[in-house]
Amino acid sequence: MGERQRKVHGIMICVPYQGHLSPFVDLALKLASNGIVITFVHLEFLHRKLCDTHYANKTDVDLFSKARELGLDIRCTTMTDPFPLDFDRDANFNEYWEAMARDFPPLVDEFVGNILASDRDMLHFLVADTVYSWPAAVTRKYNLVNVSLWTQSALVYCLGYHWDLLQQNGHFPCKDVADEEIKYVPGVESINTKDLIAYLKQSQCESVISRASRLQFEQAKMADFVLHNTVEELEPQALSALNQYMPNYAVGPLNFSQNLPTNTVTTSFWSKSDCTTWLGSKPPGSVLYVSFGSFVHTNKQVLEELAYGLLLSQVNFVWVIRQGILGDGATSELPAGFREAVKERGLVVGWCDQVEALSNPAVGGFLTHSGWNSTLESMWCGVPMICYPIGFDQPCNSKLVVADWKIGIRLCEDGSLDRENVAHEIQSFMGGGDLERLRQNVGRVSQIMKNAVETDGSSKTNFDRFLKDLKAKIR
Ligand code: UDP
Repeated sequence: MGERQRKVHGIMICVPYQGHLSPFVDLALKLASNGIVITFVHLEFLHRKLCDTHYANKTDVDLFSKARELGLDIRCTTMTDPFPLDFDRDANFNEYWEAMARDFPPLVDEFVGNILASDRDMLHFLVADTVYSWPAAVTRKYNLVNVSLWTQSALVYCLGYHWDLLQQNGHFPCKDVADEEIKYVPGVESINTKDLIAYLKQSQCESVISRASRLQFEQAKMADFVLHNTVEELEPQALSALNQYMPNYAVGPLNFSQNLPTNTVTTSFWSKSDCTTWLGSKPPGSVLYVSFGSFVHTNKQVLEELAYGLLLSQVNFVWVIRQGILGDGATSELPAGFREAVKERGLVVGWCDQVEALSNPAVGGFLTHSGWNSTLESMWCGVPMICYPIGFDQPCNSKLVVADWKIGIRLCEDGSLDRENVAHEIQSFMGGGDLERLRQNVGRVSQIMKNAVETDGSSKTNFDRFLKDLKAKIR
């Protein structure tokens, strides 16, 4: 038996989305830094997409080769999903997820079975994204420890975990117009129905994602361990409630873990434009960074109102408009004359290094769709937020930001996103007296996060405890 086979060995299977891939890779690096052997599985189409973006179409690149040079034992391998490589999984999201629920499990079964065919003792545990609906069956069949990585907030996990309780109380499906406080979900002191996960609402309850999420939480209940990309001190009630059912470990924010060689692995779906030179020419705290992440779509009207809002606000901004943000193949054209009108005051890019931008002293605020990674990154960098949640878990995240941690505000809370309102709210956010209070609060939150990843910090301690418990379960 080779050296590699004697060590604890895990296989990690991620979902092919930017906001999931990054924490997955970070966790792989963290496990490997602790002496665990990792087989990291990319879906073939995603591997090719990353290679196309960063290595001029060379598909034989091992994305973890630099990490291996540092002594980390991570092998990258690929498997196919049920669609041809050129199928547009983003534009055909529903079809893709339906097929993934139906046709992907046998592929994973075969894939893991093939790895184990040569040596049944080679793999010890599987880490799958919690949003998958198949891990329990595969881990049971091959006698692997089932580790689930939840890449969203613990609040969202609590709500999803108790979707049956919400159903019993008439809040799943939840009327779209409902305005009620929910106070009975364990771990959630109170949440307004307006802030619920979007797919618990009536208009989305029969959507593919809503059905998939119910399955996923039933699956998650069968995991041996759940890792959360959050911080215990920030979501204590949610995590302690979850711990009553099974072992949960808050180990976030993963990408900021101590001594993690994150720059050795390429995870970015798009090539990055440099913002630092432009930001360097702006006064401290004067720039609003605007981005809606990697995944959600918006429409032409929203884009236009935001454009005019930014223009009228007179505030400096960096605006990330990624390719495909409008969905259905529409091109995201900005209003005629927009670029000339904002002149040196605004920089529009297709994609950038978000953490680098948020860390720049010129950035004083983040207009965000409230994706969980973006929220964590903004908090880490001490940047107050203007939240404009679009769907999925984003309303819950902005509730945490605005109501619980008081480190941001909601954009156009009354629902009318028109240019005058946008301009007024951006202007008063960037220049108003409230900003100082928000800054102080986010500074405190940032410190909590930094303490958590230090030696003896909660996330570090939780991760060490997870490793101990994992090894004990394997032996
Ligand atoms: N991101 C980036 N460059 C950009 C915009 C976003 O690197 O120009 C990254 C960002 O740092 C974050 C991720 O994309 O890690 C978005 O994840 P999030 O959970 O915030 O939103 P999602 O894309 O899942 O909706």
